[in-house]
Amino acid sequence: MPENTNNPNKKTWLKVAQNSDFPIQNIPFGVFLTRDDIITIGTRIGDFAIDLGALHQLGYFEGIPLTDDIFLQDTLNDFISDGKKTWRAVRNRISEIFDISNSKLQNNEEHKKVILFSMDEVEMQLPVQIGDYTDFYSSREHATNVGTMFRDPENALMPNWLHIPVGYHGRSSTIIPSGTPIRRPLGQTMPKGAEKPVFGPSRLVDFELEMAFITTDANVLGEPIPIDEAEDYIFGMVLFNDWSARDIQKWEYVPLGPFLAKNFASSISAWIVTMDALEPFRVESPKQDIEPFPYLKQNGKQSFDIHLEVAIQPENGRPTSITKSNFKYMYWTMAQQLAHHTINGCIVNSGDMMGSGTISGPTPDSYGSMLELSWQGTKSVPLSDGQSRKFIEDNDTVILTGYCEKDGIHIGFGEVKTKLLPAIPFEK
Ligand code: CA
Repeated sequence: MPENTNNPNKKTWLKVAQNSDFPIQNIPFGVFLTRDDIITIGTRIGDFAIDLGALHQLGYFEGIPLTDDIFLQDTLNDFISDGKKTWRAVRNRISEIFDISNSKLQNNEEHKKVILFSMDEVEMQLPVQIGDYTDFYSSREHATNVGTMFRDPENALMPNWLHIPVGYHGRSSTIIPSGTPIRRPLGQTMPKGAEKPVFGPSRLVDFELEMAFITTDANVLGEPIPIDEAEDYIFGMVLFNDWSARDIQKWEYVPLGPFLAKNFASSISAWIVTMDALEPFRVESPKQDIEPFPYLKQNGKQSFDIHLEVAIQPENGRPTSITKSNFKYMYWTMAQQLAHHTINGCIVNSGDMMGSGTISGPTPDSYGSMLELSWQGTKSVPLSDGQSRKFIEDNDTVILTGYCEKDGIHIGFGEVKTKLLPAIPFEK
């Protein structure tokens, strides 16, 4: 089935603000709680949340093989399991229903009452039940910056880095939707020059500017996903703030890698933007200096031009943009990550989430973490009201945004916005 939602000239009969992240070309998927406290799967056009469960019950998806309750669920996992053909058929149909030339729903006030909500009367939920979460480390600039700070500027990249999309298995229990506040974590750290570790609130809480992709069921035990098919198993992408406690991380990570410094919270944006919606924004990924093994080899445009930005908003203050980066800087592509992840036969399931790793650009104003922006706390990052930051302070809100733009179409991810609350009271 051809994909036919991308036409830049397509218009909808719904009112959509110019430069909305959610024009009719986007059609993302999410899960929300309605004003009647009913949980449903939905999409969004402009500032309207659209109840797909209601649309389905009223017969608007006739002819598409869907189970009756596919949208009456509190996660997208089953729908994602239905596979790319079904996602595409549903998006094509939504695109038709809301097309300016289609009067069927447009002129049916009774139906509109149960299908359409304004965004301010729904509460967004976590869109998928994330079974497994893997985080990669795929930005060369980020890996080089961290290697320069912590090891040796001459040998900033580890010897494996240009051969392998390096990653680790994270923890999914603390992945939370945008809007959920988090606590400054407690933990052990080893202050500089100290002889023994101390216990208390982390002093170096940081964000990580990342994106993540959500997979469908892809393979059986022992069977790799070929790189040429990998993208067919990617449902879509979200913005991802992988909160990190740098001081806890530094003390605990030897020899097995990230642990409590990384699993106290990871925040994602609420709407999953599909790969079909991102198709017009394909770009080439950075040239790979060392030829990868055949199972990681790709040709053509394998990355996406997604503008990313982070702002910090202090308590009672205005947000200040502190960095701008782009998904296209990623050295390893999502297809390479997925092919590598499964080359040993590891199973990938519907609703699994893979983080990109911090996405830093080539210049200091495009770095994807406070660790890099403040260069380990040696520089201050100014905010617009005269304050400055080296890391994230109590009651700061961190806001990640992302969008694509080309030929007059603007497709965005909305935001992932998280407030850092003070640590819970503790005993020393
Ligand atoms: Ca990370």
